[in-house]
Amino acid sequence: MRVEAQVETIVNTEPATGEPQPPLTVDSPEAVGAAVAAARRAQPAWAALSFERRRDVLLRFKDELLRSVDEVSDVLVREVGKPRFEAFTTEILTVADLTRFYAQRARKLLADERLPLHLFPHKKSWLRWSPRGVVGVISPWNFPFSIPVGDVVMSLAAGNAVVLKPSELTPRVALKARELFTRAGLPEDLFRVVVGKGPTGAALIDAGVDQVVFTGSVATGRKIAEACGRRLIPCILELGGKDPAIVLDDADLERAARQVVWGAFANSGQVCASVERVYVERSVADRFTERVVELTRSLKQGDPSKESVDVGAMVSPVQLDLVKRHVDEAVAQGARALTGGSPAPGPGRFFPPTVLVEVTQRMTVMREETFGPVLPILAVADTEEAVRLANDSAYGLTAYVFGSRRRAEAVADRLVAGSVIVNDVLFHHGLPESPWGGVKDSGLGRVHGLHGLKDLSMMRHFNTERVALPKPWQYPYGDVWLKRLRRAFAFLLR
Ligand code: NAD
Repeated sequence: MRVEAQVETIVNTEPATGEPQPPLTVDSPEAVGAAVAAARRAQPAWAALSFERRRDVLLRFKDELLRSVDEVSDVLVREVGKPRFEAFTTEILTVADLTRFYAQRARKLLADERLPLHLFPHKKSWLRWSPRGVVGVISPWNFPFSIPVGDVVMSLAAGNAVVLKPSELTPRVALKARELFTRAGLPEDLFRVVVGKGPTGAALIDAGVDQVVFTGSVATGRKIAEACGRRLIPCILELGGKDPAIVLDDADLERAARQVVWGAFANSGQVCASVERVYVERSVADRFTERVVELTRSLKQGDPSKESVDVGAMVSPVQLDLVKRHVDEAVAQGARALTGGSPAPGPGRFFPPTVLVEVTQRMTVMREETFGPVLPILAVADTEEAVRLANDSAYGLTAYVFGSRRRAEAVADRLVAGSVIVNDVLFHHGLPESPWGGVKDSGLGRVHGLHGLKDLSMMRHFNTERVALPKPWQYPYGDVWLKRLRRAFAFLLR
């Protein structure tokens, strides 16, 4: 009797309508292995190309992307429930800019680096940044284009091949990205996409990739670190956040309120660097909160395909339930929702932008990542209390400070986070030159920036001799050389 292998599929529902999307087939571990093997075969020829040839392909991808804005936006709107404006600005534009940035600069950024030696002027050392081979990218659903495609572009710019495992909630936009690369002339096997859930991601690590770039939750990040540890391959971990914003009493309150509202509700609050908690100095707390509530009430939530909509839907029922639980729990413990507070009736998944006051630092909504359109505001006695509470967290991705520049910069220096931003929010993920990543539970390593590009490369040290001088550290040892060495080093290390 022949037993047919069962084909696993993924069926997601559209966030804004609840309508089921056509099923997608999950890649088996064998298919994942074949994708990695194909990428490995394709990589040496890509690595052997000059930076200029690689640049040309990446620039063609950028052009193809700019020609396909509507095509990519449509997928993002349907699959993620993201407003059209955000699909363009935070996903497409950022990738187009990052691609041009690295296509044009990879040669210079990855050029050999002289390493001046302080003791041996007759020798010459340099560092060389070579491709690692096949990079496995495992990505989340909240920025399903800009996060993985940024990693893909940088990996390719450094001479690697890539296999991407997108989130099971948003595989279509990753497949669209591959289509654009293929149209741009990238060899097909150099960038492969495998579809599936957690086990497909685990299979990707086990299939022999040379490095993993993971973006997702802390819980999964720990599993990735373990799996990479077993294989002794490097991993970059971009994990969750519970990012605080401090509003000082000398802040421009109108600007602070506008930024905080955007930072909390953009992408329906499903941003790792969202403003997830606010500490405002008591003397300005009422004025600031009133303005935040006014601005929040003026936001238009609804059909993300409409250009005038500010806040879209939530990606999954699980995420919607988590947000509801955080808000319900806070309210049961004494918090008050000044606007919003409970999900809108279905079938779409909408949670109205919610402002909570009378929260305490112990509430779940102030401690765990909510990842939804919820903004808890806590009035504090002074700057000391604000800094103490902002740092009282397991996370350390980003922190924000609003205030007069000099004072805000001094406070910024005391905040423990991978990025600390003064008088603005969120925009820094769009800066290709700045390293992105967290401290504490928010992750390890960096993407973007020179550090991110070098992390995608294998660093090798080379040393050669300009002049062949005698080597006092060789055999035979003998007391004459020892005496000379002791005299010489007594002088050199004086
Ligand atoms: P998640 O951890 O559930 O999943 C992330 C990816 O890992 C998915 O593709 C998933 O299929 C895969 N995965 C799950 N189990 C796996 C396993 N055992 N082995 C290999 N892969 C596995 O996260 P999510 O819900 O998709 O994303 C939300 C989280 O991502 C939030 O915590 C958010 O803060 C974080 N995030 C962080 C950043 C950042 O830059 N620091 C950016 C965006 C999102």
